[in-house]
Amino acid sequence: MVSSLVVGGTLGEILESLTAASLVGEPIVLAYGQAAAKAEEIASRGVKVFRLNGEHPDLIFKAAKKLFEELKPKVIIGHSTKNNRDALSRLAGLYDLAMATDVVKIEPGDDHIIYERGFLSERAIAREKASYPAIVLINQKVFEPYSAQGQGEIVDIDVGTPDVQIVEIKKKQLSGINLEEAEIIVGVGRGFKKKEDLKLAFELAELLGAQVGASRPIAADYKWLPEDAWIGISGKRVAPKLYIAIGISGAPQHMAGVNNSKIIVAINKDKSAPIFKQADYGVVADLYQFVPVLIKKLKERKEK
Ligand SMILES: Cc1cc2nc3c(=O)[nH]c(=O)nc-3n(C[C@H](O)[C@H](O)[C@H](O)COP(=O)(O)OP(=O)(O)OC[C@H]3O[C@@H](n4cnc5c(N)ncnc54)[C@H](O)[C@@H]3O)c2cc1C
Repeated sequence: MVSSLVVGGTLGEILESLTAASLVGEPIVLAYGQAAAKAEEIASRGVKVFRLNGEHPDLIFKAAKKLFEELKPKVIIGHSTKNNRDALSRLAGLYDLAMATDVVKIEPGDDHIIYERGFLSERAIAREKASYPAIVLINQKVFEPYSAQGQGEIVDIDVGTPDVQIVEIKKKQLSGINLEEAEIIVGVGRGFKKKEDLKLAFELAELLGAQVGASRPIAADYKWLPEDAWIGISGKRVAPKLYIAIGISGAPQHMAGVNNSKIIVAINKDKSAPIFKQADYGVVADLYQFVPVLIKKLKERKEK
């Protein structure tokens, strides 16, 4: 019997969600968008994959509704992405299902599931209980990718066209950087006095093989970097191995986006800046003095 339905738009999302879903019981998958193109790879984990052509939230909603009605899974699991939140909150509303986002731990029981998720800008963990059926959206990189092997089936799912028609799309200015996948991120904040000075951060990032992210003022207010560089509670949540915060004070709304980093290094000239409370390593220095020296040393080391 199907116990859980995994819903996702990328291979990475699906594999991590499958690990969580397998704690509940036998999973099936609804793969849309990029994940649909990887249906064979997903099926090779021994699961049945329903492949949806498209990633319009209305189509995802219709496909999830069809599978929910036909297969009656106990739990629907996916990542806390915009598409999943949009599509699955409509399913939750329609059937009065409990739905949680940003979940970091699950404990399935016989007739209920217990889950933990951050609140108060991730400064506290809430432990909650919901009766089946429920919708649980997890944070990225909390669960390992599902590694089981087998031969699953692929079934195309057709739910027609979206009821909501897109009249016009206005593209946001995006840099194309993929902070969610980055292993090292250099974060820039209001400690930088002008846009041109960000070249210091970019030079450091290039030497480290890192991506550049930003606090909200840099992306949203000054618009020195595109919106996809914005990290925090209202931007992106990232989980690199190393996060180097330069001229960032460490406001809770920013730190909520980086607290899954393995190591946080802070460079700030104010020794009482809040970021030092959360950083693994802190450098109390003027970034205009310290970063050029760091760049010089890294270059020397590379040349050796
Ligand atoms: C509802 C809500 C949502 C929000 N969402 C987000 C979000 O998603 N992401 C986010 O980032 N913020 C968010 N914010 C804003 C957040 O509260 C902070 O205002 C913001 O993170 C501060 O950015 P900052 O650290 O770059 O700037 P500041 O707080 O101004 O800090 C600048 C730091 O640079 C240091 N500095 C200055 N000059 C130098 C120098 N020469 N060398 C070294 N250090 C120097 C200073 O000591 C200071 O600590 C949100 C706020 C609200 C109310």
